[in-house]
Parts: sequence; C-alpha cells; structure tokens
Amino acid sequence: MTDFRAIRIDKDDHGQHADYVVMRERDLMEGDVDVDVAFSAINYKDGLAVTGKGPVVRRFPMIPGVDLAGRVTRSAHPDFASGDIVVATACGLGEAHFGGFAEKARLSGDWLAKLPPPLTPARAMAVGTAGLTALFCVLALERHGARPQDGLAVVTGAAGGVGSFAVALLAKAGWRVAAVTGRAGAEDYLKRLGATEIIPREELAAPGKPLQTQRFAVGVDAVGGVTLANLLAQTRFDGAVAACGNVGGMELPANIAPFILRGVSLLGVESVRPRIALRREAWARIARDLDPDAIDAMSEIIPFDRALNRACSIVSGQIRGRVVIDMGLQLPL
Ligand code: NDP
Repeated sequence: MTDFRAIRIDKDDHGQHADYVVMRERDLMEGDVDVDVAFSAINYKDGLAVTGKGPVVRRFPMIPGVDLAGRVTRSAHPDFASGDIVVATACGLGEAHFGGFAEKARLSGDWLAKLPPPLTPARAMAVGTAGLTALFCVLALERHGARPQDGLAVVTGAAGGVGSFAVALLAKAGWRVAAVTGRAGAEDYLKRLGATEIIPREELAAPGKPLQTQRFAVGVDAVGGVTLANLLAQTRFDGAVAACGNVGGMELPANIAPFILRGVSLLGVESVRPRIALRREAWARIARDLDPDAIDAMSEIIPFDRALNRACSIVSGQIRGRVVIDMGLQLPL
C-alpha cells in the first residue's frame, strides 16, 4: 500500500485548517525507519495544533500527533528491524516532523523505543507523552530527594492526561496524593487512581499571599499561572514543585518568598527532546510500575475517524484521562 490516510494541517491565506486526506508514501519526510502506525493518542499539544489555538506547528503542511506506536516495515537504523513493535513520543513529532495521526510514519530511529513487555501498543499510547511527562516529573522530585514520608503530594489538572498519570505514579510510589480538579464527578475516578483527597480547582485559582499555610511536600503542576504561584506559596520547607504544563496560562505571577524563606524548589520538566537512554529507562519503569488495569482505567479507545473531532475538544478541557486512537492495523501480538 503506497497510499495512506492522515489528518493534515494546511495553511493558506485564510489561515490554517485540519482535515482527513489521502497521502502517498513519497510525501513522507526523511527518516531511517518506516512504521505502520497501529495506535496514536491525543495530547493537549495536538489540540492546540489542529485548532490553531497555540503556535505548535513549525512547518506546513503538518501531520499532527506527538505520539505513535506501530510495527517497523523498513529500517536502516542499527537498533531496529522489520517487524519490531516500537513507540515514539514527542521529539518534534506533530510539530516539525510528520506525526502519528496517519497510517504511516517515517522517522529517525533515535526517537524510537522497543516496547517493553507487558506493554501493548494500545497501552503504550494510553501512556504516551502525557504519561512520560508525569514520570519525568516524579523522577525530578525523586532526584530532589523527596520521599513519601515527607508529607502530602499535590497534582493539578489531575483528571487530565498528565495529571492522571502523576496521581497513579505518585500513589504507586507510596505518596498520599491530593488531586486538584475542576471537573464535577471526577472524585471516584481520581480515588481509583490512588488520590487520597480531592481539592476543588477554585481553591488555588485566585491570587493569594506570597507565603500561605504549608500544605504540600511536593507538587506536579500541569496548569501554571496563578495555580502554580499558589502551589509554591503552600509548599513546605525544602519541598519542590515539578512544573510541566500551562493550561492555565504562560505567566507565573509568583513571589520570591517561598524560594528564599522556605527553600522551595521549582523544577522545570520537558519531555520533548529525544534523550533516548532516559526514554527507554522511563518505558521500562512504566512497564514495571503501572498495572495494565490502571492504564485501562485512564483511557478510552476511539477509531481514527473520530480523532480530529476529539483532538479539537481537548483544548476546552472536555477529555478525561487519555484518548487512544486505533488506526485499525491488526498486529500479531
Ligand atoms: P489535558 O487537557 O488532558 O489535561 C489538562 C487538565 O488541566 C484538564 O483535564 C483539567 O483538569 C485542567 N485544566 C484545564 N484547563 C484549566 C484551567 N484553565 N485552569 C486550571 N486547570 C485547568 O492535557 P495534558 O494532560 O495532555 O497536558 C497538560 C499540560 O501539560 C499542557 O499544558 C501540556 O501542554 C503540558 N505538557 C507539557 C509537556 C512537557 O514536555 N513539558 C509534555 C506534555 C504535556 P481537571 O479536569 O482535573 O480540572
């Protein structure tokens, strides 16, 4: 098959627009590995890309989709051979290089990892960039020296993709976890993931004092803005907040007091650059730490036909957990 279906974002004088198209293999970008895509997933960044609400796409036309999993069909890379089941997340996919919202991908083998058992391609996509980012946040807190006996962990944007995985990973590591959510009815879901208490989003949404009552030992923040400023103000002595997201804004209207009077640390987390050794280690830890049932509880699977519509809805906070896209490829597993 040389033709394949894709979602493509084009830009013309009227602006940018995303639609389903049929493309040819020769339209693919450079890369030393070809992959038949079996599953992809919807990330916040994909929502920004397809709606044009954020400057995510760095060249047009672009196939969005920062995550993909599938089967290698051609490889000139020493680590991979035809038939390998692989996963790729971020690394510029869906931004500067054609991504996972397509039946075929051609990309650098340096961005790929083989799937560690018992992860299936569908579950790997349920994890995807969101799960890896949550894990990188937990690793950053652990490198800081934080331990569950230090006190309460807090996760913002808790019912979203990054937040759901952060709650599950922290709970699995032994933390008591406070989940901050603005979503009505998310309490049972978050408690099933391991949250021990629920904090309404409004409690952290209004500007507050530079130093507030010390509630949290550590935090994972997917929101930014005033919420992050309040987290810093409520973090205990020598605590740390891993900041990875900006759904609540790019600004950080914070005060220096938590840093210099309480020794609080703000740890920046990005999961975009390849750093393949770290990624392979991260996949191994996810395969070890996350029970398949927990991954399934956070995700739903949709057919490719519904992907564009659902990708548009993530930017208005209408997606809970993770949405996995089934491209309809049958893999012998
Ligand atoms: P989701 O849309 O799945 O989750 C975001 C969650 O944040 C929502 O579910 C909602 O949680 C909460 N939320 C939404 N809008 C607001 C708001 N205005 N104020 C407060 N809370 C809000 O997105 P992802 O989990 O995929 O991504 C989360 C963030 O992390 C994004 O900013 C994304 O760009 C970033 N990110 C960064 C990466 C990095 O490398 N640093 C990699 C991956 C993602 P609830 O319903 O519980 O209130």
